[in-house]
Amino acid sequence: MKPIYLDNNATTQVAPEVLDEMLPYFSTYYGNPSSMYTFGGNVAKKIKEARARMAELLGAQPEEIVFTACGTESDSTAIWAALRSNPSKRHVITSKVEHPAVKNLAEYLGRNGYRVTFVPVDKQGRLDTDYLYAQLNDDTAIVSLMWANNETGVIFPVEEIAAQVHKQGALFHTDAVQAVGKIPINLADNAIDMLALSGHKLHAPKGVGALYIRKGTKFAPFLLGGHQEHGRRGGTENVAGIVGLGKAAELAGARIEEENTRVRALRDRLENALLAKIPNALVNGDREHRLPNTTSIAFEFVEGESILLLMDEHNICASSGSACTSGSLEPSHVLRAMDVPFTAAHGSIRFSLSTYTTDAQIDLVIEKLPPIIDRLRKMSPFWAEKAATVCQVG
Ligand SMILES: *Cc1c(COP(=O)(O)O)cnc(C)c1O
Repeated sequence: MKPIYLDNNATTQVAPEVLDEMLPYFSTYYGNPSSMYTFGGNVAKKIKEARARMAELLGAQPEEIVFTACGTESDSTAIWAALRSNPSKRHVITSKVEHPAVKNLAEYLGRNGYRVTFVPVDKQGRLDTDYLYAQLNDDTAIVSLMWANNETGVIFPVEEIAAQVHKQGALFHTDAVQAVGKIPINLADNAIDMLALSGHKLHAPKGVGALYIRKGTKFAPFLLGGHQEHGRRGGTENVAGIVGLGKAAELAGARIEEENTRVRALRDRLENALLAKIPNALVNGDREHRLPNTTSIAFEFVEGESILLLMDEHNICASSGSACTSGSLEPSHVLRAMDVPFTAAHGSIRFSLSTYTTDAQIDLVIEKLPPIIDRLRKMSPFWAEKAATVCQVG
């Protein structure tokens, strides 16, 4: 049975068109793109096409795209490049709600000789930009902020922030892994210096990503080796993955309109129906400045993990507080930074849709979830306590 897959911020299905274009590069066209003969040269041409497609989606120049192995590598490369190429600067600014790909590196830097500022967010998950601007100084090497949050979908005004950061002479990097393909991006029009993205969040396979580096930006490679990627990332290219990412970029450009109309409408229908049918349910994060495919809903006084298990009986896939903290009882650092109360953070579920989500799938979730929450609440000591309080007050 096909899953009802509403966990597209964790990973996505490889688009059939992407797979079709990749397959010959596992079999027929196995040449090394660096080789002198035509058999390798043809592979290099296909990589060139992928680079052009990626650049087109981002409003960038092909030379500004470096292919990597994942979003994490792109994030790490960007931050290390900024620090290595500006060694006198020892201050890094990021936010309290970053993906572990940035958060864990920032924490490492904080323990190893750098000063790191973690900018807070408000209860809606919106960044405190005044705080950020007050922290910027001559020692700031890089500001790294996600374009859109993977847990709540909340969008940060990174273009505006990048312009301010530039005035102070610092570099600006954005983790755009969740934004690419979901909201329009035109790097020709802004001051962003580096941007990270990942194939598997965009209907390309796992194991390929890209880093945009604006022309003229001082850069130091993370992987030193061969001359691949113009010496910016050593290692023989993941040809099939790069070909897939190029095709996925082309598809994403063509589908961005649908993402912001049909997918957004499906998400809104799911969210509104669940809020109407289930008492004590709240949306986490700013509903206005948000990705079109994501909703994080707190079902108060129930355990997110229990909701996931019961949804799994209907083959519905979603995430609780955070995929990365599943298995521990700590609510996610994102919901904690937003000051979401404990009783709500624990029952938070993220639904993330895609172009492959259908009306019938959304209908099924709207039908199955309310009785699941009801059943869990009847067993919940928190809920019993809350009901008792309400009775006393009323
Ligand atoms: C998934 C994700 C990453 C990491 O990408 P990988 O390709 O899995 O390394 C980084 N940042 C955000 C916001 C993500 O959602």
